[in-house]
Amino acid sequence: MDDCIFCRIVDKQIPSRIVYEDDSILAFHDIDPKAPVHVLVIPKQHIPSINEVTQENSQVIAHIFATMPKIAQQLGIKDSGYRVVVNCGKDAGQAVNHLHYHVLGGRSLTWPPG
Ligand code: C5P
Repeated sequence: MDDCIFCRIVDKQIPSRIVYEDDSILAFHDIDPKAPVHVLVIPKQHIPSINEVTQENSQVIAHIFATMPKIAQQLGIKDSGYRVVVNCGKDAGQAVNHLHYHVLGGRSLTWPPG
């Protein structure tokens, strides 16, 4: 999608600090980190939000979760712990309409989130 900023990051039209990439997913450092480690993991395929996940396109979601421990290990937060957040829709503050998993760590995180 031409007007999707994360699709443009996938296509390398917009630079990002990539930490992991394969055929179906990309992980890159968030441009405005909310923790010492803040990475976004996205499907390369344009899925706008959780609301558009279906049986047909959900295989990539399992792949994201299966890959996350490797990404966390690479970032040095696997053993200390990390949080995975998905904002969905207006009330959750979703700003980019391309499904993305925030992976946050590197400090003690408070709960509950606001
Ligand atoms: O969940 P939400 O949609 O609010 O998160 C979008 C995230 O994408 C923000 O944390 C923002 O900093 C990040 N972002 C980015 N690179 C961009 C645009 C947004 O890392 N070029």
